Amino acid sequence: MAPAGRAVVIGASMGGLLAARALSDAYAEVVLLDRDVLPDGPASRRGVPQGRQLHVLLDRGRQVLGELFPGLGAELTARGVCPVDLHGEVHWYNDGHRMRRAPSDLIAYGMSRPLLEQVVRERVRALPGVRVLAGHEVTGLLLTTDRRRVTGVRVVTADRTELALPADLVVDAGGRGSRSPVWLADAGFRPAPEERVEVDVTYVTRTYRREPGQLEGMLGALANAVPGRPRAGIVAPQEDGRFAVVLSGVLGEQPPTDDEGMAAFAATLPAPQIGALLRTARPVDPPARMRFPASVRRRYERLRRLPEGHLVFGDGLCSFNPIYGQGMTVAALEALLLRRLLAEGGDGLARRFYRGAARLIDAPWQISVGTDLRFPEVTGRRTLRVRLVNAYLARLHAAATTDARLGAAFLRVLNLVDPPTRLLTPALLVRVLRGPRRPEPVPQRPSASSIAR
Ligand SMILES: Cc1cc2nc3c(=O)[nH]c(=O)nc-3n(C[C@H](O)[C@H](O)[C@H](O)COP(=O)(O)OP(=O)(O)OC[C@H]3O[C@@H](n4cnc5c(N)ncnc54)[C@H](O)[C@@H]3O)c2cc1C
Repeated sequence: MAPAGRAVVIGASMGGLLAARALSDAYAEVVLLDRDVLPDGPASRRGVPQGRQLHVLLDRGRQVLGELFPGLGAELTARGVCPVDLHGEVHWYNDGHRMRRAPSDLIAYGMSRPLLEQVVRERVRALPGVRVLAGHEVTGLLLTTDRRRVTGVRVVTADRTELALPADLVVDAGGRGSRSPVWLADAGFRPAPEERVEVDVTYVTRTYRREPGQLEGMLGALANAVPGRPRAGIVAPQEDGRFAVVLSGVLGEQPPTDDEGMAAFAATLPAPQIGALLRTARPVDPPARMRFPASVRRRYERLRRLPEGHLVFGDGLCSFNPIYGQGMTVAALEALLLRRLLAEGGDGLARRFYRGAARLIDAPWQISVGTDLRFPEVTGRRTLRVRLVNAYLARLHAAATTDARLGAAFLRVLNLVDPPTRLLTPALLVRVLRGPRRPEPVPQRPSASSIAR
């Protein structure tokens, strides 16, 4: 069917941009509205405060972005982004166990969040029929008098002009602070049931110049937080010959922001690479700190009554504990879902979208909430399944110190490439149960990232 009608997207961050990409196949006109001033280059901005924090795009997200924007990987590499083999070139310390490395085809791009957003924004701007309007704040929804359908949005521009913008579909990608719950309540709809898991995470990210020889032989290191040591850290390369370090604390643990304090905090992590780097690294900017109180999932699929012509997308639907790096990948998967549903046509788009989105959110939600429930302070239902899975993963991490196949299987699940059930195949179960043994030789082949480079 030829594109027709107008779709409006609230928010031009990663969620809104990915939604716009999907909408542009079905709508003649797609208008993205963001209340922020949008920078011309890769700069952080007020409306996306998390943009100053280290972001990792999971391998599944990389694949989907490549599908939505052909040639994106090559474009990023041309802009100085470094592809990293997530199993072959990253030192993983899961629960203190150093994972045995092996070449893989799981790739992450070492890049800053503002660069990714800018490159994707340029791609979206170039799509036929797409307009990106900065300095446009959406203040409400327009509805039919019977309130069955959303027909557009109310907007205030930077010079305080008020507008009504009609639309056949409104997609709210306004982020975690999406106003849709309030707007829908004002229109007489019940609130979507909300699941909330308090994790009280604090992030401190800082970027450093990458000196010759630094990150030699490895392109990243990661140590996760565990009960009793609620601290984590990641180091990753960035564009323009830089690297970034994020230190994080869960459940109120606060990483410091001064040089000495950061180095001392990093020295308590099981990944010695992070502490060693921070002792000599030369920063290029001040540290950025951000708190993230809770993972929040809004279950619009459980509402009996929903208006047509309106969808909530991205973080507004589910905002995950950032430690697991899932948000952008889930938004990309939602974009694929939306594109498929629009191509199929038919009524009841909102209901079909929320059902499909709930299915694709289930696995990442299970991974992040299930892992957070290892901390006794985290409130939530510790079902037998959650406890068994966590006990199994603890054994898997120990066995993965020598068994690269287990590390590979775990990273594929973490990167949302394989479903969590893939870790329970009989072959892997046997390897987990027999525990660490003498290391098997690792296949000698070049890593996919060195081929991509
Ligand atoms: C500390 C931290 C670290 C993270 N790390 C990772 C990571 O490593 N990997 C990963 O995949 N994800 C990560 N995330 C999540 C990721 O940032 C989000 O999933 C991603 O940005 C998609 O969110 P979004 O576009 O839905 O919302 P946001 O990024 O929050 O964007 C919302 C946009 O809507 C605009 N807006 C809001 N309200 C209005 C309005 N009324 N009118 C007009 N415009 C409006 C805002 O200006 C903004 O541009 C992290 C998040 C945090 C907090």
